[in-house]
This record gives sequence, C-alpha cells and structure tokens, in this order.
Amino acid sequence: MRNRFALFALATLLLFATSSLHAADERKIRLLNVSLHPLFTLASSAIRGQLHSRADVSRCLIVGFFGGYGFYESKIAAGRGDIRTALVIANVASSLTSNVAAGRHPLARLGVTIGPTRTEFSTVFEQDRSAFVYIGVSAYESVALMRMRSASDKMEWRDGLIAFRKHEPYHGDGRAFGGFTYGVFPGTQYGAADSTWNHEVIHAIQAMQRDSFEPSYRTWFRRRQQQSPRFKLVRLEPLSLGVFPSINDGFVDRQDYTDRWTEIEAWRLAQGRPPR
Ligand SMILES: [Zn+2]
Repeated sequence: MRNRFALFALATLLLFATSSLHAADERKIRLLNVSLHPLFTLASSAIRGQLHSRADVSRCLIVGFFGGYGFYESKIAAGRGDIRTALVIANVASSLTSNVAAGRHPLARLGVTIGPTRTEFSTVFEQDRSAFVYIGVSAYESVALMRMRSASDKMEWRDGLIAFRKHEPYHGDGRAFGGFTYGVFPGTQYGAADSTWNHEVIHAIQAMQRDSFEPSYRTWFRRRQQQSPRFKLVRLEPLSLGVFPSINDGFVDRQDYTDRWTEIEAWRLAQGRPPR
C-alpha cells in the first residue's frame, strides 16, 4: 500500500510540474488547489501507514478538499493584502491537513506556524492526547531561515510573519527581483510595491501548504512511534525533515521562472497577470 501511494504522489508531482498553466485564472487555481491538495493529503497519510480502510481514504480526500480550499482562500486574501486573515486561514487549513494525514480527528489539534516551528494545541477532539501543546521543528524551514538571513539585510516581524528586507534587489536565476522567498520567509526590497509583499506572502503560504503534508523523520526511516508516551504539558515532536518541500523544489528549480506553478499562482493572485 505504501509504495503504491508514494509512486502515485510522485506521478502527481510530475503532472503538477509539467502542465502548461500560463493561462491559469482564479478558477483554475482553485480547481488545482482543491484537487491536488487532497491527493497529497492521501499520499501523506499512506506514507505514514494510516490508511486502513476505505473510510480512511474518503476522510483524507474530503478533509483534504477543505484543506485545499482553505489554502486557496488564504492565497486570495494574501493577494489582496489581507495578510493576517490569510495566515489565520492557512494555519487552520494546515491543521486540518496534518491532523487527517496523521489519522487524527480533523480538529484534534490547532496549530500555528512561526518561522521553522509549528506549535499545536490539543483540542477536545483529540483522543489519547500525550500533551496539551506539541512543538515541532522543520529542518527544511530552519535551512530556509538561514538562507534568507544571508541573502537579506534585516530580519523583522511583519503582519504575523518573520520577514526580511534588503536595500539592493534579490538575485536568482540570473534575474533581479524586488522580492524573494525561501520556505515560509518572505523578503522584499525597501521601497517595493505592496503587491510585491503580497506576492511573497503567497509563496510563504505555498510553503506552509507543502509543509502540512510532511510527517516526522521517523516515518521516512520507518521508526515506530512510541505506543503510549507519558503525558506531558508540552511535548517536543520528532524533527520533520522537509521531504515534500524538497521534492517540490527539485521540480520547480528545473523550470523557467515564468513556467513555475508557484509563480503563476502568486502573480495571478497578487498582480492579476501571468509571470514576466
Ligand atoms: Zn514569485
């Protein structure tokens, strides 16, 4: 079961990376979010060995649909500059996704992403909780933080995100940009238009979306979870590596800037036109 779904996830990623989406409008962007997000949620759950019945599959697809729709709405809100609303929706969508992929009730834990950490609060829907608060750290996002720090001049708190500023333009792919984002860390050049900030926040939300599928390193190394760990008020979760976001980067980096799905989505929703 595991291998089949892992292959399926890879095939979907390929499709994702190679489709021609230049003419994508908001309807198409919504369609992709509500169709691909549930498939990745299902793949994530399969990789964790959490699909035991048809009911598990349907639950992943249905909750994944709402997760994908949430991320779409979140990106729309970011595109119009309502960043705080966008982040609230993205955090709820992440919670739904990671809960159902881990085989929990969709509302078992409500989490918030702050930089490379995700703090989840147990709700009344969580059965057999082993803590009230769970703190997870992503290795991928920790590296992204270091990369953004070295590429930028200043780190700041902006609209609920750890953000970066730079006096000169950012450089990448032989081009100069007024904004740049690694992982969940958006950066903009001083004096950049508001739409550039909104665009970079959409990239940060895309990163949250990819991170929401990621299991802990134990899953990839097939280590069994402790059966019933001793209850703690605050529990540090096993590290998450960032395999899902890394695979995505591998595909996206091979594409020309204007062909990248991530750019097509951010440009369309923040600037109202295709990438250029
Ligand atoms: Zn961009």
